[in-house]
Amino acid sequence: MIRSYKFRLYPTSKQEDLLRAMLDDHRLLYNAALQERREAWKRARTGISFATQSSQLKDVRADESDYARWSYDGLAWTLRRLEAAFQAFFRRVRAGAGKPGYPRFKGVGHFDTVIHRNGNGAKWGTIPHSVVTKVYIMGIGHIKVRQHRPVTGRVKTVAIKREGRARWFVVLAAEQELPSPLPKTGTMIGIDLATGSNGLAYTSLGERIDNPAYGKASRSRLADARRALARCQRGSKRRNKARDRVTNVHRKVRNQRQDYLHKAAKRLVSRYDVIVAEKLNTAGLVRRPAPRPDGTGGYKPNGGSAKTGLNQSILDAGWGHFLDVIRAKAESAGREFIQVDPTYTSQTCSACGYRDATNRSGKMFVCLSCWHRDDADINAAINILRAGLALRDATQAVVTRSRITAKSQREGLAVRPHEARPLQADRPLFLSTEQPYLLARREPRPHPVYEYPAHSDRPHPVLLFIEIHAI
Ligand SMILES: [Zn+2]
Repeated sequence: MIRSYKFRLYPTSKQEDLLRAMLDDHRLLYNAALQERREAWKRARTGISFATQSSQLKDVRADESDYARWSYDGLAWTLRRLEAAFQAFFRRVRAGAGKPGYPRFKGVGHFDTVIHRNGNGAKWGTIPHSVVTKVYIMGIGHIKVRQHRPVTGRVKTVAIKREGRARWFVVLAAEQELPSPLPKTGTMIGIDLATGSNGLAYTSLGERIDNPAYGKASRSRLADARRALARCQRGSKRRNKARDRVTNVHRKVRNQRQDYLHKAAKRLVSRYDVIVAEKLNTAGLVRRPAPRPDGTGGYKPNGGSAKTGLNQSILDAGWGHFLDVIRAKAESAGREFIQVDPTYTSQTCSACGYRDATNRSGKMFVCLSCWHRDDADINAAINILRAGLALRDATQAVVTRSRITAKSQREGLAVRPHEARPLQADRPLFLSTEQPYLLARREPRPHPVYEYPAHSDRPHPVLLFIEIHAI
């Protein structure tokens, strides 16, 4: 398991100048290598590989005294980074979705990270048993580190990172043994990610995970900082300071959110053995709604602004990131984390399995078959948990089955797949492993009988339901 650590660096002013020079030289190398690839393709239709470029690195370092200051390994990492940018570009071209976006030249101040392998041009923890931890970077020397937690495992890479204009960090990737799993609690939970402003998520046990929405609180501060920045003259010292203020607000929000999400994820992972959540399609959610022509040359409202508001709160909540954090924590704690397709989980009754688009009425879920009522998010969370458990069972069944058939083939026994694992009567039945869904398991309760007034049309059951409650 790879775990990363990030510590603040405190370089001397001389070291800071050198760090800046290092980033800039790496940036120039990146741009030069990009230029070479572009030209080669434009003129001769030939592609240049990472291998070719890194073999030139020796000569580059010999001729240019500026590059010779820095380690070969670090410079090679920068070339590898360009290679990764090209590979991603080719992947996008092959996928053919949207504009692929050719790798771009990095402008001044837009190249912030240099990576080394530990022991190759950079070394973590150079002075053993010292009060102050230091990291050695070739060409710069030993830089002071504020190490706020112990590092365990074998440090593989040492990255130097700049944030804003003058905050420096070292990011370590350490290889660790898998930690001993947390003791089993015998519980499982489903998570439904909430929409809009009503929290981050709900669990199948009815717990609510709040969305801290620090973005909202900081929005006015950010707006002030942005206005101040806009008033400043380009290239002035004052402008630099104003820009720092904008970055500071962003960083603060990011850190607060990180901290909150990590704590929330940790609570879940420490309490439950199995955690099921939905598979996210963030790209789909954030996309703009399609325009709806009204037939007279104009456009009908398409829910654009409502969608923008929702997008904002999706980004605010950082769902994708939340799920990533849960996955990582679950993995290191030996917990199961399952993601399922959430289709129909909000339309299906968690009590009887009846599915209907009109089951939902706003925040409440009201089943039109058995009149089961629940909070819509909690109902969905229960369905998500069920789907996850079904998927888990199905996967285990497949594994068991293949093991048994392999064994039976070896031993000449004829065990047919369906005999390998008898269906348990108390478990829900599912349509398929692709779309595990609950079929009616419990007998639906009979419909309540109402006398409809002869003169009116048959009312909509949900409306009727509300009317009865109003009386
Ligand atoms: Zn029902």
